[in-house]
Amino acid sequence: MILTINCGSSTIKYQLFNNEATQSVASGIVSRIGEADAYFQHQNQTETVKESRSVPDHTVAFQICIDNLLHPTYGAIDKIEAIEAVGHRAVHGADLFVDSTLIDEAVIAKLEACVPLAPLHNPANLIGIRGGMALLPHVPHVAVFDTAFNQTMPAKAYLYALPYELYEQHKIRKYGFHGTSVRYVSERAAALLQRPLSALKMVVAHLGNGVTMTAVAHGQAVDTTIGLATFSGVMMGTRSGDIDPGLIFHLHRQLGLSLTEIEDMLYKQSGLLGVSGLSNDMRTITEAAQAGNGRCQLAMEMFAYMATKYLGAFAAAMGGLDALVFTAGIGENSPEVRALICQNLAFLGLALDPAANQQAVGGQEMAINQVEDKTAVLVVPTNEEKMIALDTRRLVSSKNQA
Ligand code: ADP
Repeated sequence: MILTINCGSSTIKYQLFNNEATQSVASGIVSRIGEADAYFQHQNQTETVKESRSVPDHTVAFQICIDNLLHPTYGAIDKIEAIEAVGHRAVHGADLFVDSTLIDEAVIAKLEACVPLAPLHNPANLIGIRGGMALLPHVPHVAVFDTAFNQTMPAKAYLYALPYELYEQHKIRKYGFHGTSVRYVSERAAALLQRPLSALKMVVAHLGNGVTMTAVAHGQAVDTTIGLATFSGVMMGTRSGDIDPGLIFHLHRQLGLSLTEIEDMLYKQSGLLGVSGLSNDMRTITEAAQAGNGRCQLAMEMFAYMATKYLGAFAAAMGGLDALVFTAGIGENSPEVRALICQNLAFLGLALDPAANQQAVGGQEMAINQVEDKTAVLVVPTNEEKMIALDTRRLVSSKNQA
């Protein structure tokens, strides 16, 4: 069996797959680690349990994950030796990792070196890796990086037009995000279209609370909307997306806001929440917009307009477009947002089939374009855990063959 671990600063998500990484047999989350209201939720193929628990630190949280997997009624395995490999989500591998990798001390040192680029995420990932290795010391552990897929971007796409030394000395460049999701979704999209990935130009629109649009040509990322930090590109739940950087100086000098206040505003008070004044949740925004709330209608229009602009930009960058692929919470579940994004795209040979668009909610893979169209529009539910498990299996079997 393959265990995947996604360790954040206050949560551990885990999932257990069969050896082929084709089927999930159990999954769970330990949440609010270190807080008074900590709890876990766990499910196997027949049962779901949720329980409040004291979880003072990540070590205890890990033990809960293992205890749940071994539990006589709601567990999935009868001995810990059933776990043969562990795949870890790793957020930032900078330019040091172009693919997933087996973890050893040198890999851990490189991940530590990447902490300044992801000060919130990488330390938590390292806790996950160390904790996982302590609990399961005799099995291979694999790191799967969110940034690896975007490492194929050419320099003209990943560089900022800043003094070049900033890139050379401080690695200041665009890295992108959600690469594991985009890789999984683009592979599934090619399978759905029954065409080789190497023959396709597509834009993957990962529209969740965080938003990434990525141009994928011939299976490789050629450009993406997220940059060095995680707020450029399309507006998100609470993040602004693209702004004129001059705005930051204006907010500081004219409105007297501190850097911390501006950062808080751009990350936590902007996006759908900032424009609507109501919510960061697209479901709430959509309902209010349909009931006539003008600010929510505007928030949806702005969101879709920014996505449409990037779609056009990326189609131009790739010199064509075979498929637009929607994924993540909004992409998978919102016919309204998909329709807004696609409304003016007939010039790309792309139009939605309204009935198929309405039908594509709740987790199935399907095409939603009109059959005669040149450009396909697909909905493909993302599954980062499965991609992590598949990579883990790939690396462990190539190690075994070596
Ligand atoms: P995260 O980036 O946190 O993983 P998700 O991929 O779960 O986010 O996406 C969360 C977003 O998806 C929220 O804005 C939520 O409102 C939206 N969403 C989920 N279901 C629907 C739906 N049925 N209609 C519209 N938006 C939805």
